Amino acid sequence: MQNVIVYVQHKNGSTPKVTFEMATLARKLADQLGGKAHAVVVGAGSSQLADTLKSYPLDAVHVNDDAQVDGFLLDPIVDYLEAAARAVGPSLVLVANTLGGKDVAGRLVARLNAGIVADATDFKIEGGTVEAVMPKMGGAAITTAKLKSADYGIATIRPNAFSAQAGGAGAAVQPIEKPAGKSYAVVVENDVEEGTGELALEEAPVVVAGGRGLGGPDPFDQLLKPLAKLFGGAVGASRAAADAGWVPYSLQIGQTGKTVSPNLYIAVGISGAIQHKVGMRSSGTIVAINKDGAAPIAEFSDLVVVGDAFAILPELTKLVAASKA
Ligand SMILES: Cc1cc2nc3c(=O)[nH]c(=O)nc-3n(C[C@H](O)[C@H](O)[C@H](O)COP(=O)(O)OP(=O)(O)OC[C@H]3O[C@@H](n4cnc5c(N)ncnc54)[C@H](O)[C@@H]3O)c2cc1C
Repeated sequence: MQNVIVYVQHKNGSTPKVTFEMATLARKLADQLGGKAHAVVVGAGSSQLADTLKSYPLDAVHVNDDAQVDGFLLDPIVDYLEAAARAVGPSLVLVANTLGGKDVAGRLVARLNAGIVADATDFKIEGGTVEAVMPKMGGAAITTAKLKSADYGIATIRPNAFSAQAGGAGAAVQPIEKPAGKSYAVVVENDVEEGTGELALEEAPVVVAGGRGLGGPDPFDQLLKPLAKLFGGAVGASRAAADAGWVPYSLQIGQTGKTVSPNLYIAVGISGAIQHKVGMRSSGTIVAINKDGAAPIAEFSDLVVVGDAFAILPELTKLVAASKA
């Protein structure tokens, strides 16, 4: 394995930020392996997305705006990726550890007769061998595994586990040919998009998270939501808040919840247990609002506001609203 290939999952050119995290990671891994960093982006809207990807430290972006890709379930994508991997040569293929990404990764494993490491949060390269670090059993165990194959390996990448950094000399955008002679059995007839209209927690640039210190479900709706909305962000929670039934588990951040890395993380009434910290420590600026200035969260926050959240939050929300106006 020498090169690194990023599979760019997207819809009409819109991609989750894990793509840019993988583009940044690909450069680092390719340098350590002594190879090149590539990305493959196919389907409607690809050219526009390839333009954005040019500002990430990749060597080449392989593009095809083939609209047929979106008309069939996954197989055309796997065909393109297989073709790109065979053209590039022995490589590690990075795929986002999302629902769609996992489907693609599983199929690609069979096509390339490759090994796979899933939900990787870190890598070590030694003597050309790729070793991945992966939390398992909801984070209760951390495993490391080596990819043994010399030719192809697949790694699914946990969103928000790596940072994204634009830079580099500007990738060469190259057309990739449509694999010939393929027919597909599963047709996409209707694509229904579900969603509440709220920003996904993992994608939000600002996260306002609440913990046991909020004492119940109402402050999440009445205090956290309005502040998060003003910032164009999302509400998160500690496990204590989710366990108490104040918020759904989908909002839980931490070892057994989601990993986030927003530009700004505001932790309200959260003590900062290690299991919470691992899910948000890569955030840009961390602000804690806590009654207890000696709470563990103070050790890894950029700013600690010591006081009662119920007094501070309404004032803070007013200030943010006024400064936005
Ligand atoms: C295997 C395992 C996995 C876990 N996974 C996770 C995980 O994914 N995510 C997670 O979060 N936890 C996880 N935990 C639980 C974790 O250990 C902590 O118990 C949990 O994070 C504590 O939540 P908390 O900070 O909301 O509550 P507490 O630790 O009780 O902290 C509440 C904080 O609120 C402050 N406070 C109280 N009243 C106010 C007020 N009026 N204004 C301001 N501040 C106030 C207090 O000073 C205190 O610091 C896990 C534990 C285990 C064992």
